Amino acid sequence: MTEAAALAEIGVIGGSGFYSFLDDVTEVAVETPYGPPSDSLFVGEVAGRRVAFLPRHGRKHHLPPHRINYRANLWALRSVGVRQVLGPCAVGGLRPEYGPGTLLVPDQLVDRTKARTQTYYDGEQLPDGRTPNVVHTTFADPYCPVGRSAALAAARGRDWEAVDGGTLVVIEGPRFSTRAESKWHAAQGWSVVGMTGHPEAVLARELELCYTSLTLVTDLDAGAETGEGVSHQEVLEVFAANVDRMREVLFDVVSGLPAAGERDCLCAGALQGWDTGIELP
Ligand SMILES: [Zn+2]
Repeated sequence: MTEAAALAEIGVIGGSGFYSFLDDVTEVAVETPYGPPSDSLFVGEVAGRRVAFLPRHGRKHHLPPHRINYRANLWALRSVGVRQVLGPCAVGGLRPEYGPGTLLVPDQLVDRTKARTQTYYDGEQLPDGRTPNVVHTTFADPYCPVGRSAALAAARGRDWEAVDGGTLVVIEGPRFSTRAESKWHAAQGWSVVGMTGHPEAVLARELELCYTSLTLVTDLDAGAETGEGVSHQEVLEVFAANVDRMREVLFDVVSGLPAAGERDCLCAGALQGWDTGIELP
């Protein structure tokens, strides 16, 4: 355990809109064996719980989805004591009924990324000399069931009826999908498309962290609309219009999560029976 181990118990990977107005926020720089995370952690108190916020794209939003150091991000959160992670993100809707402003809490994930390291357990020696073993984690249900329930209840409590379940397909980006790709994604029965939900979710699982994805639809994806296709401006406008209520929901989720040390979900025991070869922070 490091000195910083008990700084926070819950992590939120999302932009400054979620923490910048908190009264007392401490900036904590964290180094990891995988290099630097996207930014410092910003630690504050929400509903009596210690929460570490991490701007996924960096505070200046300089990191595109495929250049985010996902391994460093999750490792940094765990190293300050975080055990439950909330991952809000903007997505495109793959069905006409999932228009801008829809909140969807997915229960499944499809990985369509191409060039991202998605494991800690690759048998490669770390800079500090330790070598992790090869580990195959169970990922049939990629999200924490307890976190999902808390997210749905929190949204309902704010009169924002969230879609319960659905499949988030994660593409490499940074470009948006072509119409053909988008129609194919929709034809598979998948619900929303994003660029950051993976490998965030699997790396969390590999560190025995609970991970809950909250997706905010900012646009209809190219195959589900009839206009010009997705524009970045459109995405930013819808996100800005919803950031306040997204923050309210997130804070209510925080207060609805189990206390530290009282997790009894599958995430908490994800490494049971495995010799990882390295000690987790
Ligand atoms: Zn869990």
